[in-house]
Amino acid sequence: MPPERTTILASLRDYIEQLREEGLDGLPHVNPPSATLAGTQPPTAEAAAASSGRKPARMVNSPDEKKLTVKRDEGAPQPQSPLATSANTPGELFYRYPGLEKITDLDMLRQFIGDCTRCKLAPGRTKLVFGVGNPKAELMFVGEAPGADEDLQGEPFVGRAGQLLTDIIEHGMGMSRNDVYICNVIKCRPPGNRNPEPDEVSTCEPFLFRQIDLVQPKVIVGLGTFAVQALLKVKTPISKLRGNWYEMRGIKLMPTFHPAYLLRNPADKRLVWADIQEVMKFLGRIPPQRPRR
Ligand code: SF4
Repeated sequence: MPPERTTILASLRDYIEQLREEGLDGLPHVNPPSATLAGTQPPTAEAAAASSGRKPARMVNSPDEKKLTVKRDEGAPQPQSPLATSANTPGELFYRYPGLEKITDLDMLRQFIGDCTRCKLAPGRTKLVFGVGNPKAELMFVGEAPGADEDLQGEPFVGRAGQLLTDIIEHGMGMSRNDVYICNVIKCRPPGNRNPEPDEVSTCEPFLFRQIDLVQPKVIVGLGTFAVQALLKVKTPISKLRGNWYEMRGIKLMPTFHPAYLLRNPADKRLVWADIQEVMKFLGRIPPQRPRR
């Protein structure tokens, strides 16, 4: 492939990843013109949105918001209020997998999941990525799904984004990776790191909720749009959720940006640092000095 095409594809992939982090779950479909005429202008964003029946993306100027926000759900849940979702009703989640509610530790849960083929991600994975860390951690990080490095190693957050998460835990919080528990909503890598699909989330999430019940952390930090949307059962973008406390299954939840997003948008590390400080305050921990990076 010519090098310029590789660069364009990489930029496009980064841009789509950024939109995804901000809560966009699709791009407007615009039918191509039947013939290309010299001097024909490409459709405007408004025309594209009108033809797709969707609202156009809205540009915002607030420094704390992303430059491009698509309003998919105006009804963000109120901070501090428990959410009436299936994620908060333990019994309902486990009806699909009889016996799941009787599991009493993480090793048993891993055995229960086994060489899982319950959803269509199974054939493409190298290793199932269950979770790591202190089984009785007071702090739990929940991401979206394994990436390429995690799929190969069978451990969550071990690639570049994982290194950044480790920096946040060790240098930002003064803790070790072994002090906390880290896992993902989805246990197997979606092909090409695409978004997890609703049927995959609903098939896999009972395992996550059982993990949460077993670890019983004081705080969950939800990393990125998809993890937080799966945990809270909302469609609100992470840029609107982050920085506020929520509650699920009786546990405090702090949404923040995914480390992979921070690799592309390092200026937003200050927002994550603010969220982490809130978490530290809640846990009664004094963070070390602010990391320089
Ligand atoms: S993603 Fe979850 S449900 Fe799907 S195969 Fe992996 S462990 Fe099973």
